[in-house]
Amino acid sequence: MALPLRRHSLQAHIGGVAVGGGAPIVVQSMTNTDTADIDATVAQVAALARAGSELVRLTVNEDGAAAAVPHIRDRLDRMGLTVPLIGDFHFNGHRLLKAHPACAEALAKLRINPGNVGRGSKRDPQFSEMIAIACRYGKPVRIGVNWGSLDQELLTRLMDENNLRAEPWDTMDVVREAIVVSALENAARAVELGLPRHHIILSAKVSGVQDLITIYRKLAARCDYPLHLGLTEAGMGSKGIVASTAAMAVVLQEGIGDTLRVSLTPEPGGDRTREVIVAQEILQTLGLRAFLPMVVACPGCGRTTSTYFQELAQSIQSHIRHRMPQWRREFVGVELMTVAVMGCVVNGPGESKHANIGISLPGTGERPVAPVYEDGAKTVTLKGEQIATEFQALVEAYVARTYPRLETPALDTTLPQADGSNP
Ligand code: SF4
Repeated sequence: MALPLRRHSLQAHIGGVAVGGGAPIVVQSMTNTDTADIDATVAQVAALARAGSELVRLTVNEDGAAAAVPHIRDRLDRMGLTVPLIGDFHFNGHRLLKAHPACAEALAKLRINPGNVGRGSKRDPQFSEMIAIACRYGKPVRIGVNWGSLDQELLTRLMDENNLRAEPWDTMDVVREAIVVSALENAARAVELGLPRHHIILSAKVSGVQDLITIYRKLAARCDYPLHLGLTEAGMGSKGIVASTAAMAVVLQEGIGDTLRVSLTPEPGGDRTREVIVAQEILQTLGLRAFLPMVVACPGCGRTTSTYFQELAQSIQSHIRHRMPQWRREFVGVELMTVAVMGCVVNGPGESKHANIGISLPGTGERPVAPVYEDGAKTVTLKGEQIATEFQALVEAYVARTYPRLETPALDTTLPQADGSNP
């Protein structure tokens, strides 16, 4: 499979995680708890990390939040969870970081929104203060522009310049340019203030798919900083997933992007870890990273009128997700496995043969038997009430037989123990 050539970028290190410079594209997420609520925030960071988030961002919006950050870091460390924490600052970051040095120390990266650093004459001193703190503590910074909080003075300046053009640009072109210029000019100012270039990551978040593609292409062409991808305000449910995927897949395919976050609005009471799973699935379906064995399932049609095969596909998917933390500790390369669950004889045997292991269930009117294929060859035919359990056992046996065992099983610190604690 031909993968896109990655754009050449500098490499930043956030805690122990490399971003850019050819490192694997990093999945990150953000909490939605009150950061000052240490118990709730620790629980959510732990859930996000266990789901596979390699970096987790927290809002640091007031003194209580800033004071909580070192305790959150400490609690996570004691749980064996080393996931780096990123502080998200707006308006008062300079003051909070100065008043709470332990917060600056505990964070692995600072996110600065250049549109929310301060207005007029306060802007540069407040920005400089945050960069000085980042330099003092050796922390990388994401200069994260968001078009919902775009620097209005910069936009006005570019609009004025545009009016002087013989053929003025469309207003939206000027806005997109202002987003790019905001990221680049603030990065240049940070370097001028002493922040090493390899401590800078840029993002430029918008909510429109075409806008994101245009802006990231411009950024990629005009700098070599690692780029953080994300569609802001992507929305809820399938809308948010489709919009994020549509936008990020295009630029990722062009080799642009070093870390990503999928910003999904959770359903009330919904699971925050969904954004991590979607980010992993975007990267895995593009062939850029492998996190979990892939289940290939047909959509079903009039040839399979019962829900049996849907239930089997779901049970296999859940089984794999449940077993993966343990498999990852024991077997090398298991995340590359594909498992096919197909509804009938039309495409079932063919698709199952392409997978590492696959099952072709009987469609309506077919003989009630389910042939299983392993590495392209039919190995056994299942029938009766226990097909799901028997197929899971075959998947387990396939994993144990196919993937080499790690000589010393890895200690997976994200793996909860039976008693709910962590090693
Ligand atoms: S494999 Fe069979 S059941 Fe599944 S979509 Fe194709 S024809 Fe329908």
